[in-house]
Amino acid sequence: MSVLVYTESWNGSFRKSTFEAVSYANETAKLLGTDVIAVSLGEVSDSELSKLGNYGASKVVSIATIEKGDSQSTTNAIANLANDASAIIFSNTYTAKMIAPRLSVKLKIGAITNVVEIASNTSPFTVKRKAFSTKAIEVATVNSDKAILSISPNSFGLIETGGNCTIETAESSKKGEITIEGQETLSGKVSISEAEIVVSGGRGLKGPENWGMIEELAELLGAATACSKPVADIGWRPHSEHVGQTGKAVTANLYIAIGISGAIQHLAGVNSSKVMVVINTDPEAPFFKAADYGIVGDAFEVVPKMIEEIKKIN
Ligand SMILES: Cc1cc2nc3c(=O)[nH]c(=O)nc-3n(C[C@H](O)[C@H](O)[C@H](O)COP(=O)(O)OP(=O)(O)OC[C@H]3O[C@@H](n4cnc5c(N)ncnc54)[C@H](O)[C@@H]3O)c2cc1C
Repeated sequence: MSVLVYTESWNGSFRKSTFEAVSYANETAKLLGTDVIAVSLGEVSDSELSKLGNYGASKVVSIATIEKGDSQSTTNAIANLANDASAIIFSNTYTAKMIAPRLSVKLKIGAITNVVEIASNTSPFTVKRKAFSTKAIEVATVNSDKAILSISPNSFGLIETGGNCTIETAESSKKGEITIEGQETLSGKVSISEAEIVVSGGRGLKGPENWGMIEELAELLGAATACSKPVADIGWRPHSEHVGQTGKAVTANLYIAIGISGAIQHLAGVNSSKVMVVINTDPEAPFFKAADYGIVGDAFEVVPKMIEEIKKIN
């Protein structure tokens, strides 16, 4: 028996959430007294693959010959390696959301998403997960001997072991029925779901021409930029920046919300951030109830002052 972990890569590199999933897999393997096998799909160099050893993988199976985004082929490839696995671990990314349910049906193993803690029991697997748009924590148990668990990014953390792993290559056995027509990659931007800091703007910024200060603040802080839903809907910002219940989830260490009212649907996607700072002219804005720090003030005065002060210490 082993613990299998899917290690997602982007342009040949692993992200923090991948190392977090391997760390989680390693802690699960310790509970079961077994080893971690990582599966990597797509072109990834040996030096990058070997980094997985430092988070607890003892072996990496690398399948380079697979089309990224083809969820059927990916599911088949992972299923082929899962025979001996007591648990299959994912980071709860968009890819995991495509693959974990398919795998669950294919292997008849219960899947739990948005997991935030190591299992309190492994027979059967019982874990805490975020529920009701992060408004509650639910204790969930699978009805199968094995479990598929997707870990909410930034909820578990990284645990370096200083270990090494062996690397094996394998071929993708069965092609899926999906053809990828094209993929668009946003380059040079900090990813919202991975970011330590997110600077986010709402309708209070009045128009797309005022986003210069948001971008400048984000750049100074090494942060990702985000926005509320109406801002993306009106076309002031791209939909890739929309955060909230129907957008991307933010689990940053610091979330700075500027000119955003703090509607329940917005909060649902951002309130897992460790510290929330809110800048709003309206002292009654609901966001202040959820904020750790609040500035009642005009964004057009407050943000330039913040930029000025940060430049002094940078
Ligand atoms: C099913 C459903 C799903 C939804 N999903 C999402 C979602 O995923 N994400 C999301 O964001 N919304 C979502 N919404 C919309 C949500 O309900 C709110 O309408 C939206 O979040 C409001 O966006 P906003 O705060 O940018 O705008 P507004 O509500 O218009 O708020 C603007 C804020 O800016 C402040 N302000 C004005 N001028 C300034 C200034 N100069 N300086 C500082 N502050 C200023 C105002 O006081 C106000 O609080 C959803 C709604 C529904 C019904």
